[in-house]
Amino acid sequence: MINVTKSFLPPIEEYNKQVQRAWDNQWLTNRGELVLELEEKLKHYLKISNIVVTTNGTIPLQIALKLLGEQGDIITTPFSYVATTSVIVWEHCTPIFVDIHPEYLTIDETKIEAAITDRTTAILATHVFGNPCHVEAIEFIAKKHKLKVIYDAAHCFGVTYKNKSLFDYGDVSTCSFHATKLFHTGEGGAMFTNDSDLQHQLFYSHNFGHNGPLTFHGLGINGKISELQAAMGLAVLPYMKTILSDRKKVIDYYDANLDFSKLQSLKIRENTNWNYSYYPVIFENEKQLLKVEKELNDHQIFPRRYFYPSLNTIDYANGVAMPISESIASRIMCLPLYIGLCENNLDRIVTLINNNIC
Ligand SMILES: *Cc1c(COP(=O)(O)O)cnc(C)c1O
Repeated sequence: MINVTKSFLPPIEEYNKQVQRAWDNQWLTNRGELVLELEEKLKHYLKISNIVVTTNGTIPLQIALKLLGEQGDIITTPFSYVATTSVIVWEHCTPIFVDIHPEYLTIDETKIEAAITDRTTAILATHVFGNPCHVEAIEFIAKKHKLKVIYDAAHCFGVTYKNKSLFDYGDVSTCSFHATKLFHTGEGGAMFTNDSDLQHQLFYSHNFGHNGPLTFHGLGINGKISELQAAMGLAVLPYMKTILSDRKKVIDYYDANLDFSKLQSLKIRENTNWNYSYYPVIFENEKQLLKVEKELNDHQIFPRRYFYPSLNTIDYANGVAMPISESIASRIMCLPLYIGLCENNLDRIVTLINNNIC
């Protein structure tokens, strides 16, 4: 069986070696030695100055919205994983959707201003599949209208834009270290900001608001990652180079062999150093997609319809029609992409696709 992805697992001895440290310390959570080391190593690897590692990639979005969203209207993208919208509703804010760019698939910055009202407090946009939003235009609009910018950068581990980590853009940006993501800790995530006051707020918010054992800076929740998850991160991180180069080989194969007379691929924004996180293909229509999907499934190959449905159509979101996002969502599929996917299997996938898109 070939799935859309397969978690990278380091040699188990290397994971055990890290876990042994937690045993030796008899310390399993509350920001122990492994979590602190993981944060330092990630800062170095990503060339960033601040990080708070968390227990998943959703809680940092909730914390950022709690701090910056003020229960107002949040301008957001309809084309993302459901978490981008559900956190807005969960935090008693209102999602206001703005349609996406048909090629970059990120929020269409030229349509943002028309959606701003006096209830708008923030923009929550996704760098979808690791492809950056138009961060300069969004920053300009946010400054002009005094809005906060939060980026769901769940897919963006290691991506740089104009030679800076993509995590450096926006007031807060967040990442996911879920098992299906490029770099993972089983479950995990992180939040990033360059503002030292905000960094302080993010930090205490993820630890019940604690200021030492007996006093509190303010309201908080439990977003802490455990030593056991950090152990996985420390064991995976040394393999990033291999992970990236192996994934690039798969992508190069698809690029060279798929029939692009009938398929559209993701357009990566200029000045981006991308991370090979997903391989979406866009069909001419949903019927074609369903035919190819069925053919692949019949051969035990399981791509995923990322992202479907368009989030404005989910009942609790109360979104208005988003024609581009709805059209793309109905026609897009992510192909299998993981380290160790061999050429034999790639050939089968490509042949099945090319022979069935007519
Ligand atoms: C994976 C993902 C999330 C959620 O991250 P978790 O670590 O699973 O909580 C949020 N947004 C996007 C775009 C994602 O792909």
